[in-house]
Amino acid sequence: MAMRVLVVDDSGFMRKRIIEELRSQGHAIIGEARSGIEAIELYRALKPDLVTMDITMRDMDGITAAKQIMGEDPKANILFLTILNDEKYKTEAERLGAKGFINKTDTPSITRIIRELEQKQ
Ligand SMILES: [Mg+2]
Repeated sequence: MAMRVLVVDDSGFMRKRIIEELRSQGHAIIGEARSGIEAIELYRALKPDLVTMDITMRDMDGITAAKQIMGEDPKANILFLTILNDEKYKTEAERLGAKGFINKTDTPSITRIIRELEQKQ
C-alpha cells in the first residue's frame, strides 16, 4: 500500500534525495516542509500517513515540531531522518513514540522501516 508522505527537511538537496527514494518505492509525496513550523501547518492541512522529519532546521527543530504534532495527533507516524548521531536526540525521539531515528543516507533502513509500518496499517 502506498503511503502519503510529508517530507520535512531544510535542505532542498536532502528533500530531493528522500523524495526520489520514497517515490521509487511507490509512495506519494503530498507535501514538503522546510521548517518545523511549516511541518506543523502542513501536517494539520494534509494529515499524511507518514512524516519524515529532519532535526536541525531554522525556525523550529524537528523534535519540537514532532512533539507538537504528536500532541495533536498521537497516532502520527513520524520517522526522524538526521545526520545527528546523538543519543540525547535518539532517546527523546523514542520517548515521543517516533517510528525510527535513522541516518538520512541509510536508504535501506528507511525502506525497511516504512515497509514495516505499511504492514501494520
Ligand atoms: Mg537540517
